[in-house]
Amino acid sequence: MPTKYVVILGSLMSGLGKGVVTSSILRILDFYNCKVIPVKFDGYLNYDCGTMNPYRHGEVFVLDDKSEVDMDFGIYERFLNKSLKGDYSITGGKLFSQLLSKERKGDYLGADIQIIPHMTDEIIKRIEGIASREKPDVIVIEVGGTVGDIENSYFIEAMRQLSLDHDVTFVNLTYIPSIDVVGEQKTKPAQIGFRLLLQSGIRADYVICRCSTKLLEKTKEKLALFAHLEKSRIVDDSTQESLYSLPLHFMDQGFDRELMKDLGLGSLRISKEKVSEWKERVGRILRPSRSVTIGIIGKYTELRDSYASVKEALIHAGSENDARIDIRWIESETLESGDMSKELAGIDGIIVTGGFGKRGTEGMINGIRYAREHGIPFLGICLGMQLMVAEYARNVCGLKDANSTEFDPGTKHNVIDILPSQIGIKDKGGTMRLGAYDCVIPSKDSTAYKVYRKGMISERHRHRYEFNNRYRKLLSKNGLVLSGFTKDRKLVEFAEWKDGFGIGTQAHPELKSRLQDPAPLFVGLVKESLSAKE
Ligand code: GLN
Repeated sequence: MPTKYVVILGSLMSGLGKGVVTSSILRILDFYNCKVIPVKFDGYLNYDCGTMNPYRHGEVFVLDDKSEVDMDFGIYERFLNKSLKGDYSITGGKLFSQLLSKERKGDYLGADIQIIPHMTDEIIKRIEGIASREKPDVIVIEVGGTVGDIENSYFIEAMRQLSLDHDVTFVNLTYIPSIDVVGEQKTKPAQIGFRLLLQSGIRADYVICRCSTKLLEKTKEKLALFAHLEKSRIVDDSTQESLYSLPLHFMDQGFDRELMKDLGLGSLRISKEKVSEWKERVGRILRPSRSVTIGIIGKYTELRDSYASVKEALIHAGSENDARIDIRWIESETLESGDMSKELAGIDGIIVTGGFGKRGTEGMINGIRYAREHGIPFLGICLGMQLMVAEYARNVCGLKDANSTEFDPGTKHNVIDILPSQIGIKDKGGTMRLGAYDCVIPSKDSTAYKVYRKGMISERHRHRYEFNNRYRKLLSKNGLVLSGFTKDRKLVEFAEWKDGFGIGTQAHPELKSRLQDPAPLFVGLVKESLSAKE
């Protein structure tokens, strides 16, 4: 059967949760055992988001295949429990750079290159390429931005053209505000959105309504009239207690059955086991039997999206441990002076996150020292592991100014240094040590082994600096356990404190955490923090 397409377009404004809606649709299709692939269009002219500041764009998500992609890919993977590929991310930058290099080669000789047809053809070709290579039942396409933006207009036009000779279902995510005082749900902005979409030659098959409270029947009737749809195609997307409830909430409204029929897949039966497993895990998020407080020390905490995967990995680990996670966000600069016991009071476990640049690193080191000296369970992620090593070198081994050369190029004790493979690299885009790498955990006594329960694992990476092997002997002799290495043993991937639960990883384990397959290091941290609390 030829691949079908679901295209999700947002109206009116960003921040409506298009990624979560797309992921919920992916989850539903997977409940029916459909083979699904998500594709994301991003209109920005960067090749990928690897060079963007997390403050600007939220977290940069990294896939196994080294691609640096939009954080929505994180949501897709967390809902779908499947590792995705970089060519599912189609950006304005990738398209323009391909068109221009083809033009220079002379592939268009004689032609003037235009958005339509050259750009739109290229988009359709990429989508059809994925369909013919991988033969999914359904490709679910999220169009970044909102209808009416200049940036995504050529993507929307390409989708209109795709629908001329393919089976495409259009979903319009819109916003239904309610005015506080009267509590009335207003449909006028959504109506304007329908008209804008119609101007692009597209009529939505479903309207998903983001609203703060349940969508009222009379609001649905009005929307159905203006969207020219049956009422059953107006779907409530009111705020749920957990993001992970949304697929179930859509299914309660019969959206799944209607969508399956539209896609010509009405004969497929839903997998009851998959649904009940999902419900169980969501149930433990909504009604956990205990709670624990985890402090996240980071340098981009003002924009929570910078740490989306860390936050979600904690939610997954909480569900696994039947515990609610109360997250305390701690901006690392606030730990640079003052009384740690006040700043970190009431915290059962500590995470120090990844990051770039010197700002806030001394505060992180102070937080790590406090965790080590007070036996607070600790997980250091990438930069967090590097600073864990620097802290140990300074305060246990007496190497006073030990640091990473990223923050102090002149340090006498460069316990963290540039990766040999990074020396001489000038280009910034896509050149870090990126993607999935295998790691050996030789000793069964290590925390790493106990957490992963195996001696060979794979995690994703994104860094330029690394443990300096010249310090292996000295730090080990002083009690820092180096417990994980690349297969050739050349790079240190894990460091641990001998006592208690304190572990740093050069990888980003949060990138592989899914609700149905939580990251072992997070599960371990939450478990240890619970027992430390109790
Ligand atoms: N800045 C550090 C490096 O490049 C850590 C990177 C990170 O935390 N992702 O190695």
